[in-house]
Amino acid sequence: MTARILVVDDVLANVRLLEVRLKAEYFDVKTALNGPDALEIAARDRVDLVLLDVMMPGMDGFEVCTKLKEQPETAHVPVVMVTALDGVDDRVRGLQCGADDFLTKPVSEIALITRVKSLIRLKMMTDELSLRAATMQSVGIDTTEIFSTSRQFDGRVLLVDDRPSSVEKVKLALENDFSIDQQSDPAMAFHLAETVGYDLIIVSLNLSGSDGLRFCSQVKMIENTRYTPVLLISDPDEKPTLLRAIDLGVNDYIIRPIEVNELCARVRTQMRRKVYADRLRGMVTDAVELAITDPLTGLHNRRYLDSHLRSLVDRSAQAGKPIAVLAFDLDFFKGINDTYGHDAGDDVLRDFSHRLKKSVRGIDLVVRHGGEEFIVIMPETDSALAIKVADRLRHDVEKEAFETRAGDSIPVTVSVGVAELQGKTDTSDALLRRADQALYAAKREGRNRVVADAA
Ligand code: GH3
Ligand code: MG
Ligand code: MG
Repeated sequence: MTARILVVDDVLANVRLLEVRLKAEYFDVKTALNGPDALEIAARDRVDLVLLDVMMPGMDGFEVCTKLKEQPETAHVPVVMVTALDGVDDRVRGLQCGADDFLTKPVSEIALITRVKSLIRLKMMTDELSLRAATMQSVGIDTTEIFSTSRQFDGRVLLVDDRPSSVEKVKLALENDFSIDQQSDPAMAFHLAETVGYDLIIVSLNLSGSDGLRFCSQVKMIENTRYTPVLLISDPDEKPTLLRAIDLGVNDYIIRPIEVNELCARVRTQMRRKVYADRLRGMVTDAVELAITDPLTGLHNRRYLDSHLRSLVDRSAQAGKPIAVLAFDLDFFKGINDTYGHDAGDDVLRDFSHRLKKSVRGIDLVVRHGGEEFIVIMPETDSALAIKVADRLRHDVEKEAFETRAGDSIPVTVSVGVAELQGKTDTSDALLRRADQALYAAKREGRNRVVADAA
């Protein structure tokens, strides 16, 4: 993970200590000895995280944090406050200033690295989302939902713990913002996790009579749950187990006695990362869908055809099976637009695509090739059968006029060209071309007819 971290502390020895530890993890480290310098560096150098001492002469950590969160260019940079061991009040104030996490002095190595890595992953996710949002905005897609926090706090939490007092505490801290299921038995919990789809799993490392670590390893191994963040609750004397858990991919931890502010901050960070990751995945799917779908008819578009036809044709050629291509073009469609208007033309195109879709099989590929031209690919179908299907549809189009939303009833006819794969040396391009030539022959010969390629 290469990321740039800004370490801010008025005591040079503290700065050096953190710098050495972070550099050992291959982070790029910048340092500042006071608030104003920190603000300048954060604004100038692109930093991914700020480790911020609370107690500093002049501008203290709270003020620095507030200013960082106010500036648009640094507002999204995570801030970790470094507080005194007994600084519960400091933590509350830090949260109010927008801090993302806390570390207590003296800073333990495992806490430092876990927290830094967790927040940097979150930051990278946010950066990636911003980048995609910008791309989507540039093509006119509304992206306001992507960073909205309104849906952030309806997450589902699975709590795996069997100590009544700690269960009570966690529930009390989180139940306002999240829905919480509690389980004492890890086997039952694992079953729940697999089936329900939680946004966060909180696990006690010291369950009586069972192994919390084993549960974590199971969760991180299964496809359904591996992206679900896991937050451990651990006793102070469990450092070796904690290290193993982090190796297994556990995302964060909290040490007993549970401090409520700390718990809330950690849960919020993990939850945010989960929400962003889900949105990112969703956006990729949406973007892919968008790129291959025709918005008017919901059919696949030409781009999809281009990327799929070759492999469909190759498969048929290799298996020695036929494949047919049908090219449809509505007759005198320009005239329909001219007489009834463009919206009526759109209605005809939508209706035609429904009729087309209904008259072919599920395995047939139906594509809007452009304008009023449609292509259907029919695997394991020869020319003779394809002509029958095409002629049935042609007949249906001619017989039943197209109703528009404006109430017009429009007579429509369609011309069709049919071509079939010719042996192993035939190509998808040639096949499409021959279907197109047959279509033009149908137009030349008077329209409203099906013509098969002569080859
Ligand atoms: P032909 O029988 O020779 O196919 O004549 P035609 O009028 O159907 O063919 P031409 O290619 O001259 O015109 C096609 C028309 O389709 C022109 C274009 O404005 C219209 N068109 C293309 N895309 C759309 C669309 O999305 N909606 C509407 N309403 N019309 C479209
Ligand atoms: Mg036409
Ligand atoms: Mg045309």
